[in-house]
Amino acid sequence: MLKALSLAAVLMASAAHAENLVVHAGTLIDGSGAPPRKSVSILIDGDKIAQVKDGFSTPAGYRVVDLSKATVLPGFIDVHVHIGAKLPSTTNATEDWVTHSALDRAFDDAVYARAMLQQGFTSARDVGGSDDSVAVRNAIDAGKVAGPRLWVALEALGPTAGHGDPRSGLDPDLYHPGWEQGIVDTPEQARMRVREHKRRGADLIKIMPSGGIASTGDDPRQQLMTDAEMQTAVETAHSLGMKVAAHIYPAAAIEAAVRAGVDSVEHGSFATDEALALMKAKGTYLVPTLTVFDVFYRAASEHPELLTPGTAQKELANDLLPKQNMPRALKSGVKIAYGTDLGQGDHTLEFSLLTASGMSPMDTILTATRNGADLIGASDKIGAISTGHYADIVAVNGDPLKDITLLRHAPFVMKGGIIYRQNDVPTAQP
Ligand SMILES: [Zn+2]
Repeated sequence: MLKALSLAAVLMASAAHAENLVVHAGTLIDGSGAPPRKSVSILIDGDKIAQVKDGFSTPAGYRVVDLSKATVLPGFIDVHVHIGAKLPSTTNATEDWVTHSALDRAFDDAVYARAMLQQGFTSARDVGGSDDSVAVRNAIDAGKVAGPRLWVALEALGPTAGHGDPRSGLDPDLYHPGWEQGIVDTPEQARMRVREHKRRGADLIKIMPSGGIASTGDDPRQQLMTDAEMQTAVETAHSLGMKVAAHIYPAAAIEAAVRAGVDSVEHGSFATDEALALMKAKGTYLVPTLTVFDVFYRAASEHPELLTPGTAQKELANDLLPKQNMPRALKSGVKIAYGTDLGQGDHTLEFSLLTASGMSPMDTILTATRNGADLIGASDKIGAISTGHYADIVAVNGDPLKDITLLRHAPFVMKGGIIYRQNDVPTAQP
């Protein structure tokens, strides 16, 4: 008993005071947009980066992490996840939804969070979760569960019969109290829900100004929230220190939401040049989420029976458009952040989809580092390999500026100074 106790004490001590490490980086892409640097030492004290300096050096008391043959980058940031969401091609959406509680989902969250970290994602925004997302965020922060640092939005706010109304298309007599937690039909309700979500632990607010694709009964080409509802939601969220992410497809609704002051347009797939110009002028981020359209198009083609009733046709009619419209967004110069809209699955797919749309590999890396950190509002903590930032570090073999697909197989992942993956072998599992 005594032996077990002392071992536990040692483990806790090492988690609380991680040893000092020095990473010898063969090539460093630091997340600032600066050109890559060769032969750099990254000194890590506890969970933070203490110093970044040229040449390989090993100060007394530091253990070397030898990445001298690798390219080292900041840990990746996915700003659009639903951490517990299952892949549409393997799970019957409706059956899963009516047979799982928030407690069940919390265990899925933990499994997918760990998988995301193994893929190199050390931070993420859950833009539409519930109490389970808050719980898993807290468990990750407390070191009980391995996963990315999470910034969490609760149920997306939107109107009755909108993209976020779970009752659309169901027997009207079916009811679950949780289904009301995102419904807003007046500005006053928007204000109340934002405050309520803050109380329940939200870091940011998600709104649904337009209809969506993977939902029954609503139209992705219609604006469904009023301008006044959006304005009140944004104003209340901002006054409480929370950002607002907005799910939107059509151009008119994008313009209305941008005027209301949202911080990011999620999807934004049917944006016109005018809508994109307004976003650029206001500094609003675009999170194109090309991955989810790829994944759902395949599911709708191969397994339409697994999707939410009536949505396979919507997926087939719409899912190829975001990729076609992406070059227009690139040309506009709007700020872009990296988002997949996945929980389970391969969060690294967006890298290849962005470069295939014409984005340079360096800009693609910046969407998942500098830009993600900026959109979250944590540029001083994440998204860069720089003094004072968390020691969130990924390494790949080879040059990702020549071959972006290298980022899809990162053999080294560190978060907060703890190595979670090395040479394809997970080496630290709290
Ligand atoms: Zn989403």
